[in-house]
Amino acid sequence: MADAPTLWLGGHLAEEIRAHGAETYPHECCGALLGRDASAVAGTEPEKDALTPPREILALFPLINRREDSPRNRFSVTAGDVRAAEKAACEQGLEVVGWYHSHPDHPARPSGYDRDNAWPWYSYIIVSVQNGVPQDMTSWRLNDDRQDFTPEGIEIHHRAAVQRGSSQTMEK
Ligand SMILES: [Zn+2]
Repeated sequence: MADAPTLWLGGHLAEEIRAHGAETYPHECCGALLGRDASAVAGTEPEKDALTPPREILALFPLINRREDSPRNRFSVTAGDVRAAEKAACEQGLEVVGWYHSHPDHPARPSGYDRDNAWPWYSYIIVSVQNGVPQDMTSWRLNDDRQDFTPEGIEIHHRAAVQRGSSQTMEK
């Protein structure tokens, strides 16, 4: 069995996602996850280095939930949102590696609607918000056959740990 994918998330970003979910309660919040994916560099093998995270989230791009018909239990990302998120990522030297949203008064598990509207490769973070209070946070990736999600581990990294990577000595 392949290793479960792992997502590195800055501790301050985890708090921002929770805060966004509390702020929009009882409606869903949503946004883009901006970061880097070690396997995304075209034409190169991903580095087998324990210090190189497979995928890390370095910034958020909050979006407006445009589902006015049912904002409590579904969100949708428009083509315009994708372009705006990609532009914001590009400006920071990052890429869009996933999306987050909240589940007001529901568990942090993807719904059938989430599955039907997700794309493979991206990470989908879901935070459960019960009575306005953020609870569990989970992350998922849609399988290539688009029938189901695989859970993805979240590793919370605090600022000092995230910055350690930038002072690493570059070796050939
Ligand atoms: Zn959902």
